[in-house]
Amino acid sequence: MKELSKINSRVQASSTLAVDARYKQMKADGIPVVGFGAGEPDFDTPDHIKQAGIQAILDNQTRYTPTAGTTPLRKAVSARLKEDLGVEFPWDCIVVSSGAKHCLYAVMYTLLDPGDGVILPAPYWVSYAEQIRMTGGVPVIVDAPESQNFKISPAQLEAAITPRTKALVLNNPSNPTGMIYSREELQGLADVCVRHDLYIISDEIYYTLCYDGKPFTSMAALGEEVRKRCILINGVSKAYAMTGWRCGYAACGDKRVATVMSNCLSHSTGSIGAMNQAAMLEALTGPQDSVEEMRRVFQERRDYLVSRLNQIEGVSCIRPEGAFYVMMNLEKLVGRTLGGRVIRDADDFSMVFLEKGLVAVVSCCGFGAPNFVRWSYAVSMDTIREGLDRLERFLKEG
Ligand code: PMP
Ligand code: GLU
Repeated sequence: MKELSKINSRVQASSTLAVDARYKQMKADGIPVVGFGAGEPDFDTPDHIKQAGIQAILDNQTRYTPTAGTTPLRKAVSARLKEDLGVEFPWDCIVVSSGAKHCLYAVMYTLLDPGDGVILPAPYWVSYAEQIRMTGGVPVIVDAPESQNFKISPAQLEAAITPRTKALVLNNPSNPTGMIYSREELQGLADVCVRHDLYIISDEIYYTLCYDGKPFTSMAALGEEVRKRCILINGVSKAYAMTGWRCGYAACGDKRVATVMSNCLSHSTGSIGAMNQAAMLEALTGPQDSVEEMRRVFQERRDYLVSRLNQIEGVSCIRPEGAFYVMMNLEKLVGRTLGGRVIRDADDFSMVFLEKGLVAVVSCCGFGAPNFVRWSYAVSMDTIREGLDRLERFLKEG
Protein backbone atom coordinates (compact mmCIF):
# COMPACT_ATOMS: atom_id res chain seq x y z
CA MET A 1 0.00 0.00 0.00
CA LYS A 2 1.10 3.58 -0.60
CA GLU A 3 2.74 5.61 2.13
CA LEU A 4 0.75 7.86 4.41
CA SER A 5 1.50 11.56 4.60
CA LYS A 6 5.23 11.95 5.28
CA ILE A 7 4.66 15.07 7.32
CA ASN A 8 1.94 13.68 9.55
CA SER A 9 3.32 10.17 9.97
CA ARG A 10 6.12 11.70 12.04
CA VAL A 11 3.71 13.32 14.49
CA GLN A 12 3.88 11.82 17.99
CA ALA A 13 0.73 11.47 20.10
CA SER A 14 0.43 14.22 22.73
CA SER A 15 2.62 13.18 25.67
CA THR A 16 0.42 15.08 28.12
CA LEU A 17 -2.69 13.23 27.01
CA ALA A 18 -0.74 9.93 26.83
CA VAL A 19 0.37 10.18 30.48
CA ASP A 20 -3.17 10.93 31.49
CA ALA A 21 -4.52 7.95 29.53
CA ARG A 22 -1.91 5.63 31.09
CA TYR A 23 -2.72 6.91 34.59
CA LYS A 24 -6.46 6.44 34.04
CA GLN A 25 -5.93 2.91 32.72
CA MET A 26 -3.77 1.94 35.75
CA LYS A 27 -6.45 3.34 38.01
CA ALA A 28 -9.16 1.40 36.18
CA ASP A 29 -7.02 -1.74 36.64
CA GLY A 30 -7.15 -1.20 40.41
CA ILE A 31 -3.58 0.10 40.82
CA PRO A 32 -3.47 2.82 43.52
CA VAL A 33 -1.70 5.41 41.36
CA VAL A 34 -1.90 9.20 41.90
CA GLY A 35 -1.81 11.52 38.90
CA PHE A 36 -0.29 14.94 38.25
CA GLY A 37 -0.36 14.52 34.49
CA ALA A 38 -2.96 16.35 32.48
CA GLY A 39 -3.37 20.04 32.97
CA GLU A 40 -7.08 20.10 33.50
CA PRO A 41 -8.87 21.77 36.41
CA ASP A 42 -10.31 19.23 38.85
CA PHE A 43 -13.26 21.57 39.57
CA ASP A 44 -16.69 21.01 38.06
CA THR A 45 -18.00 23.46 35.50
CA PRO A 46 -20.01 26.04 37.52
CA ASP A 47 -23.74 25.25 37.65
CA HIS A 48 -24.99 28.40 35.91
CA ILE A 49 -22.81 27.50 32.90
CA LYS A 50 -24.05 23.90 32.81
CA GLN A 51 -27.63 25.17 33.02
CA ALA A 52 -27.08 27.47 30.03
CA GLY A 53 -25.95 24.47 27.97
CA ILE A 54 -28.94 22.40 29.07
CA GLN A 55 -31.36 25.27 28.39
CA ALA A 56 -29.89 25.75 24.90
CA ILE A 57 -30.66 22.13 24.07
CA LEU A 58 -34.21 22.47 25.41
CA ASP A 59 -34.60 25.65 23.34
CA ASN A 60 -33.58 23.71 20.25
CA GLN A 61 -30.27 25.46 19.77
CA THR A 62 -29.22 22.26 18.08
CA ARG A 63 -28.38 23.40 14.56
CA TYR A 64 -25.37 24.75 12.68
CA THR A 65 -24.26 28.28 13.51
CA PRO A 66 -21.93 30.54 11.50
CA THR A 67 -18.49 28.90 11.34
CA ALA A 68 -16.71 31.47 13.51
CA GLY A 69 -19.44 31.37 16.18
CA THR A 70 -22.70 33.16 16.88
CA THR A 71 -22.61 36.94 16.79
CA PRO A 72 -23.59 37.31 20.50
CA LEU A 73 -20.77 34.97 21.47
CA ARG A 74 -18.14 36.78 19.38
CA LYS A 75 -19.34 40.08 20.84
CA ALA A 76 -19.07 38.60 24.35
CA VAL A 77 -15.49 37.51 23.69
CA SER A 78 -14.64 40.97 22.44
CA ALA A 79 -16.21 42.57 25.56
CA ARG A 80 -14.47 40.18 27.99
CA LEU A 81 -11.07 40.89 26.39
CA LYS A 82 -11.70 44.60 26.73
CA GLU A 83 -12.83 44.34 30.34
CA ASP A 84 -10.14 41.93 31.55
CA LEU A 85 -7.14 42.93 29.44
CA GLY A 86 -7.94 46.38 28.11
CA VAL A 87 -7.51 45.23 24.50
CA GLU A 88 -9.83 46.07 21.59
CA PHE A 89 -10.66 43.36 19.08
CA PRO A 90 -13.76 44.01 16.94
CA TRP A 91 -16.18 41.09 17.19
CA ASP A 92 -15.69 40.14 13.54
CA CYS A 93 -11.99 39.55 14.26
CA ILE A 94 -12.88 36.80 16.76
CA VAL A 95 -12.99 33.18 15.59
CA VAL A 96 -14.46 30.59 17.96
CA SER A 97 -13.45 27.00 17.44
CA SER A 98 -13.09 23.63 19.09
CA GLY A 99 -10.83 24.53 22.02
CA ALA A 100 -7.78 26.76 22.10
CA LYS A 101 -5.88 23.78 20.75
CA HIS A 102 -7.80 23.72 17.48
CA CYS A 103 -7.64 27.52 17.25
CA LEU A 104 -3.86 27.27 17.46
CA TYR A 105 -3.80 24.66 14.73
CA ALA A 106 -6.02 26.86 12.56
CA VAL A 107 -3.69 29.82 13.16
CA MET A 108 -0.70 27.74 12.06
CA TYR A 109 -2.27 26.77 8.76
CA THR A 110 -3.56 30.29 8.25
CA LEU A 111 -0.08 31.78 8.59
CA LEU A 112 2.35 29.15 7.35
CA ASP A 113 3.64 27.97 4.01
CA PRO A 114 5.96 24.95 3.84
CA GLY A 115 9.36 25.83 5.28
CA ASP A 116 8.26 28.92 7.22
CA GLY A 117 9.91 29.24 10.61
CA VAL A 118 8.10 29.76 13.90
CA ILE A 119 10.11 30.72 16.96
CA LEU A 120 9.26 28.68 20.00
CA PRO A 121 10.83 29.27 23.41
CA ALA A 122 11.69 26.00 25.22
CA PRO A 123 10.34 24.61 27.53
CA TYR A 124 7.19 24.68 25.38
CA TRP A 125 3.83 22.96 25.53
CA VAL A 126 4.27 19.91 23.35
CA SER A 127 1.41 20.62 20.92
CA TYR A 128 2.94 23.83 19.54
CA ALA A 129 5.94 22.04 18.06
CA GLU A 130 3.83 19.29 16.51
CA GLN A 131 1.23 21.69 15.13
CA ILE A 132 3.93 23.77 13.44
CA ARG A 133 5.29 20.59 11.82
CA MET A 134 1.80 19.32 10.90
CA THR A 135 1.20 22.50 8.92
CA GLY A 136 4.54 22.32 7.08
CA GLY A 137 6.36 24.87 9.25
CA VAL A 138 9.66 24.54 11.06
CA PRO A 139 9.85 25.07 14.82
CA VAL A 140 12.88 27.20 15.67
CA ILE A 141 13.62 26.44 19.31
CA VAL A 142 15.11 29.15 21.52
CA ASP A 143 16.31 27.98 24.90
CA ALA A 144 14.81 29.60 27.99
CA PRO A 145 16.74 27.94 30.84
CA GLU A 146 15.73 27.84 34.47
CA SER A 147 18.57 30.29 35.23
CA GLN A 148 16.64 32.85 33.11
CA ASN A 149 13.40 32.04 34.91
CA PHE A 150 12.43 30.08 31.79
CA LYS A 151 12.14 33.26 29.72
CA ILE A 152 13.86 34.32 26.50
CA SER A 153 15.48 37.72 26.03
CA PRO A 154 14.95 40.10 23.08
CA ALA A 155 18.58 39.44 22.02
CA GLN A 156 17.94 35.69 21.87
CA LEU A 157 14.79 36.29 19.83
CA GLU A 158 16.59 38.59 17.42
CA ALA A 159 19.43 36.09 16.93
CA ALA A 160 16.98 33.34 15.94
CA ILE A 161 15.23 35.33 13.19
CA THR A 162 15.93 34.51 9.53
CA PRO A 163 14.21 35.72 6.34
CA ARG A 164 11.96 32.61 6.60
CA THR A 165 10.71 33.46 10.10
CA LYS A 166 6.97 34.15 10.15
CA ALA A 167 5.94 34.20 13.78
CA LEU A 168 6.74 33.91 17.45
CA VAL A 169 4.69 31.69 19.75
CA LEU A 170 4.56 32.95 23.30
CA ASN A 171 2.59 31.29 26.07
CA ASN A 172 2.05 33.66 28.96
CA PRO A 173 1.55 32.53 31.74
CA SER A 174 3.39 29.48 30.53
CA ASN A 175 2.56 25.83 30.37
CA PRO A 176 4.79 24.09 31.51
CA THR A 177 6.88 26.65 33.43
CA GLY A 178 4.21 28.76 35.14
CA MET A 179 6.31 31.88 34.55
CA ILE A 180 4.85 35.25 33.55
CA TYR A 181 6.53 37.82 31.30
CA SER A 182 6.22 41.32 32.78
CA ARG A 183 5.06 44.27 30.69
CA GLU A 184 8.66 45.43 30.19
CA GLU A 185 9.83 41.96 29.16
CA LEU A 186 6.96 41.67 26.69
CA GLN A 187 7.71 45.10 25.29
CA GLY A 188 11.31 44.03 24.57
CA LEU A 189 10.12 40.99 22.61
CA ALA A 190 7.34 42.92 20.88
CA ASP A 191 9.80 45.57 19.64
CA VAL A 192 11.85 42.86 17.93
CA CYS A 193 8.70 41.33 16.37
CA VAL A 194 7.57 44.70 15.02
CA ARG A 195 11.04 45.49 13.64
CA HIS A 196 11.12 42.13 11.80
CA ASP A 197 7.43 42.16 10.87
CA LEU A 198 6.61 38.90 12.68
CA TYR A 199 3.20 37.68 13.71
CA ILE A 200 2.84 37.05 17.43
CA ILE A 201 0.80 34.03 18.43
CA SER A 202 0.14 34.89 22.04
CA ASP A 203 -1.47 32.03 23.95
CA GLU A 204 -2.93 33.66 27.06
CA ILE A 205 -5.21 30.83 28.14
CA TYR A 206 -3.93 30.98 31.75
CA TYR A 207 -4.30 34.74 32.18
CA THR A 208 -6.85 34.42 35.00
CA LEU A 209 -4.39 32.30 36.99
CA CYS A 210 -1.73 34.73 38.22
CA TYR A 211 -0.57 34.59 41.84
CA ASP A 212 0.77 36.87 44.56
CA GLY A 213 -0.92 39.88 42.94
CA LYS A 214 1.40 39.67 39.94
CA PRO A 215 -0.24 41.81 37.23
CA PHE A 216 -0.90 40.31 33.81
CA THR A 217 -0.29 42.24 30.61
CA SER A 218 -1.65 41.00 27.32
CA MET A 219 0.73 41.17 24.39
CA ALA A 220 -2.01 42.99 22.47
CA ALA A 221 -2.08 45.78 25.09
CA LEU A 222 1.29 47.12 23.93
CA GLY A 223 -0.02 49.49 21.28
CA GLU A 224 -1.53 49.25 17.81
CA GLU A 225 1.66 48.20 15.99
CA VAL A 226 1.89 45.16 18.26
CA ARG A 227 -1.86 44.44 18.46
CA LYS A 228 -2.29 44.21 14.71
CA ARG A 229 0.41 41.52 14.53
CA CYS A 230 -1.13 39.54 17.40
CA ILE A 231 -3.31 36.52 17.32
CA LEU A 232 -4.48 36.06 20.91
CA ILE A 233 -5.40 32.51 21.74
CA ASN A 234 -7.70 31.86 24.60
CA GLY A 235 -10.65 29.83 25.76
CA VAL A 236 -12.77 28.77 28.69
CA SER A 237 -11.15 25.41 29.51
CA LYS A 238 -8.90 26.62 32.31
CA ALA A 239 -10.63 29.73 33.68
CA TYR A 240 -14.10 28.15 33.90
CA ALA A 241 -13.21 24.44 34.24
CA MET A 242 -14.69 23.63 30.83
CA THR A 243 -12.09 21.37 29.19
CA GLY A 244 -14.66 18.89 27.87
CA TRP A 245 -16.86 21.52 26.25
CA ARG A 246 -14.16 22.20 23.64
CA CYS A 247 -14.59 25.95 23.32
CA GLY A 248 -11.73 28.30 22.46
CA TYR A 249 -11.11 31.37 20.38
CA ALA A 250 -8.59 33.35 18.39
CA ALA A 251 -8.69 37.16 18.50
CA CYS A 252 -6.98 38.39 15.35
CA GLY A 253 -5.32 41.79 15.11
CA ASP A 254 -5.50 41.57 11.34
CA LYS A 255 -8.97 40.90 9.92
CA ARG A 256 -7.42 38.91 7.03
CA VAL A 257 -6.23 36.31 9.52
CA ALA A 258 -9.77 35.88 10.90
CA THR A 259 -11.22 35.59 7.38
CA VAL A 260 -8.76 32.98 6.12
CA MET A 261 -9.05 31.00 9.34
CA SER A 262 -12.82 31.02 9.23
CA ASN A 263 -12.87 30.10 5.52
CA CYS A 264 -10.64 27.09 6.19
CA LEU A 265 -12.65 26.06 9.23
CA SER A 266 -15.83 26.20 7.13
CA HIS A 267 -14.40 23.26 5.16
CA SER A 268 -13.19 21.28 8.15
CA THR A 269 -14.99 21.53 11.51
CA GLY A 270 -17.67 24.07 10.62
CA SER A 271 -18.89 25.71 13.81
CA ILE A 272 -18.65 24.11 17.23
CA GLY A 273 -21.82 22.81 18.89
CA ALA A 274 -24.51 25.46 19.29
CA MET A 275 -25.22 24.38 22.90
CA ASN A 276 -21.54 24.59 23.77
CA GLN A 277 -21.49 28.12 22.43
CA ALA A 278 -24.45 28.97 24.66
CA ALA A 279 -22.54 27.65 27.69
CA MET A 280 -19.43 29.58 26.67
CA LEU A 281 -21.55 32.72 26.32
CA GLU A 282 -22.81 32.27 29.87
CA ALA A 283 -19.25 31.68 31.12
CA LEU A 284 -18.07 34.96 29.60
CA THR A 285 -21.08 37.09 30.49
CA GLY A 286 -22.43 35.52 33.71
CA PRO A 287 -21.10 35.81 37.30
CA GLN A 288 -17.30 35.66 37.43
CA ASP A 289 -16.86 34.75 41.14
CA SER A 290 -15.87 31.15 40.48
CA VAL A 291 -12.83 32.30 38.46
CA GLU A 292 -11.37 34.03 41.51
CA GLU A 293 -12.34 31.19 43.87
CA MET A 294 -10.51 28.65 41.73
CA ARG A 295 -7.49 30.95 41.40
CA ARG A 296 -7.23 31.21 45.19
CA VAL A 297 -7.34 27.44 45.63
CA PHE A 298 -4.67 26.95 42.95
CA GLN A 299 -2.40 29.45 44.69
CA GLU A 300 -2.63 27.56 48.02
CA ARG A 301 -1.76 24.32 46.27
CA ARG A 302 1.18 25.91 44.50
CA ASP A 303 2.56 27.26 47.77
CA TYR A 304 2.43 23.85 49.42
CA LEU A 305 3.86 21.95 46.44
CA VAL A 306 6.73 24.38 45.90
CA SER A 307 7.77 24.57 49.54
CA ARG A 308 7.73 20.81 50.04
CA LEU A 309 9.48 20.01 46.74
CA ASN A 310 12.33 22.29 47.74
CA GLN A 311 12.76 20.41 51.02
CA ILE A 312 13.25 17.09 49.27
CA GLU A 313 16.88 16.07 48.73
CA GLY A 314 17.86 15.66 45.06
CA VAL A 315 15.13 17.76 43.42
CA SER A 316 14.20 21.44 43.31
CA CYS A 317 11.95 23.94 41.58
CA ILE A 318 11.65 27.66 41.09
CA ARG A 319 8.45 29.36 42.17
CA PRO A 320 5.96 29.59 39.30
CA GLU A 321 3.87 32.77 39.15
CA GLY A 322 0.85 31.53 37.24
CA ALA A 323 -0.98 28.64 35.47
CA PHE A 324 -1.04 25.36 37.46
CA TYR A 325 2.28 23.69 36.79
CA VAL A 326 5.59 23.27 38.58
CA MET A 327 8.79 22.30 36.79
CA MET A 328 10.77 19.92 38.99
CA ASN A 329 14.49 19.98 38.28
CA LEU A 330 15.98 16.47 38.46
CA GLU A 331 19.50 17.21 37.22
CA LYS A 332 20.97 15.83 40.44
CA LEU A 333 19.26 12.49 39.89
CA VAL A 334 20.81 11.95 36.45
CA GLY A 335 23.19 8.98 36.59
CA ARG A 336 21.60 7.57 39.77
CA THR A 337 19.76 4.24 39.81
CA LEU A 338 16.16 4.47 40.98
CA GLY A 339 13.69 1.60 41.05
CA GLY A 340 16.26 -0.56 39.21
CA ARG A 341 16.68 1.88 36.31
CA VAL A 342 19.55 4.25 35.56
CA ILE A 343 18.10 7.74 35.20
CA ARG A 344 19.38 9.42 32.03
CA ASP A 345 16.62 11.97 31.63
CA ALA A 346 13.05 12.89 32.50
CA ASP A 347 11.61 10.08 30.36
CA ASP A 348 13.45 7.51 32.49
CA PHE A 349 12.46 9.21 35.71
CA SER A 350 8.78 9.62 34.87
CA MET A 351 8.54 6.02 33.66
CA VAL A 352 10.04 4.49 36.79
CA PHE A 353 8.28 6.95 39.12
CA LEU A 354 4.99 5.81 37.61
CA GLU A 355 5.76 2.09 37.64
CA LYS A 356 7.48 1.87 41.03
CA GLY A 357 6.50 5.07 42.83
CA LEU A 358 2.90 4.97 41.51
CA VAL A 359 2.90 8.69 40.69
CA ALA A 360 2.18 10.08 37.21
CA VAL A 361 4.05 13.26 36.24
CA VAL A 362 4.82 14.50 32.73
CA SER A 363 8.33 14.13 31.36
CA CYS A 364 9.50 17.39 29.82
CA CYS A 365 11.64 15.62 27.19
CA GLY A 366 8.80 16.33 24.76
CA PHE A 367 8.71 19.96 25.97
CA GLY A 368 12.36 20.63 25.11
CA ALA A 369 13.53 20.37 28.74
CA PRO A 370 14.94 16.85 29.32
CA ASN A 371 16.04 17.41 32.94
CA PHE A 372 12.60 18.38 34.18
CA VAL A 373 9.26 16.79 34.93
CA ARG A 374 6.05 18.77 35.16
CA TRP A 375 3.68 18.46 38.10
CA SER A 376 0.19 19.77 37.44
CA TYR A 377 -1.43 20.95 40.67
CA ALA A 378 -4.93 20.87 39.24
CA VAL A 379 -5.60 18.13 41.80
CA SER A 380 -6.73 18.12 45.43
CA MET A 381 -4.46 19.05 48.33
CA ASP A 382 -4.72 15.46 49.63
CA THR A 383 -3.44 14.17 46.31
CA ILE A 384 -0.56 16.66 46.36
CA ARG A 385 0.37 15.57 49.89
CA GLU A 386 0.25 11.91 48.92
CA GLY A 387 2.27 12.47 45.74
CA LEU A 388 5.01 14.27 47.65
CA ASP A 389 5.09 11.60 50.39
CA ARG A 390 5.56 9.04 47.65
CA LEU A 391 8.33 11.08 46.03
CA GLU A 392 10.18 11.27 49.35
CA ARG A 393 9.85 7.53 49.89
CA PHE A 394 10.80 6.73 46.31
CA LEU A 395 13.99 8.79 46.44
CA LYS A 396 14.96 7.44 49.88
CA GLU A 397 14.47 3.82 48.89
CA GLY A 398 16.47 4.36 45.66
N1 PMP B 1 -2.75 26.24 25.28
C1 PMP B 1 -2.13 25.80 26.38
C2 PMP B 1 -0.88 26.46 26.81
C3 PMP B 1 -2.66 24.73 27.10
O1 PMP B 1 -2.03 24.30 28.19
C4 PMP B 1 -3.83 24.12 26.66
C5 PMP B 1 -4.37 22.96 27.47
N2 PMP B 1 -4.67 21.85 26.79
C6 PMP B 1 -4.43 24.61 25.50
C7 PMP B 1 -3.87 25.67 24.83
C8 PMP B 1 -5.67 24.01 24.91
O2 PMP B 1 -6.79 24.19 25.66
P1 PMP B 1 -8.24 23.82 25.09
O3 PMP B 1 -8.05 23.20 23.75
O4 PMP B 1 -8.81 22.87 26.09
O5 PMP B 1 -8.99 25.10 25.02
N1 GLU C 1 -2.96 21.55 28.34
C1 GLU C 1 -3.10 20.42 29.17
C2 GLU C 1 -1.74 19.83 29.46
O1 GLU C 1 -0.75 20.36 29.04
C3 GLU C 1 -4.12 19.43 28.69
C4 GLU C 1 -3.64 18.28 27.85
C5 GLU C 1 -3.39 18.69 26.43
O2 GLU C 1 -4.32 19.19 25.80
O3 GLU C 1 -2.26 18.53 26.01
O4 GLU C 1 -1.66 18.85 30.14
